[in-house]
Amino acid sequence: MRTILLTPPLPCVVPAEVFDAFAWCVSGELSWQRPAEWSKDEPLTADNPPRMIFVLREDASFLPRELARLHAPALGFADEWALAPYAIDDATDELYARRVPPERAMWLATDSLPGLFWGLHDWAHFHNHGPFTERAFTELQCDVTALAWLWQNRERVGITSEEWERLRVAAVGISEARFLAEQRSFVADPLEPLAVQGLLRSRVA
Ligand SMILES: [Zn+2]
Repeated sequence: MRTILLTPPLPCVVPAEVFDAFAWCVSGELSWQRPAEWSKDEPLTADNPPRMIFVLREDASFLPRELARLHAPALGFADEWALAPYAIDDATDELYARRVPPERAMWLATDSLPGLFWGLHDWAHFHNHGPFTERAFTELQCDVTALAWLWQNRERVGITSEEWERLRVAAVGISEARFLAEQRSFVADPLEPLAVQGLLRSRVA
């Protein structure tokens, strides 16, 4: 089953110097493939989500790749290639360096809500290049963007406001831990529900 998710460009909510090429590519849509049965109950954690992959299109053979079926066995893949799960940062750099729009390079396949959240989070990385020296702020921008896109697409995805809110609360905890790891104060305001939802009204284009 395939769902087209709207992923309009959203404003930068972190200090401008965090990114060297914010919105270098204007995001549009993300094609999401899932099986008929999928899981909305798994908790969101900071771990790499299992069974979440970006399936590569022909234009993306320059990216590190592994067979899709090894990472998402339930999705019926044969010999399709997927972005290697360790290579999110490589893809962020390489897509930007070659100016290949992410939409032309890949689509998302996952069967869980945490997988969808992290897929959208990575989708934000792919459209906003930064040196990743400000890790907590870089990730915060991607978390906020993923939550806003999920809110916008909640009917297409098939989640309730309560399910979205549970995800948001978990994302706040993950973000706070990153700021603590950098021994700096947590910047929580952009993750407030009204701030996230308001972002969609102030979208850039
Ligand atoms: Zn990230």
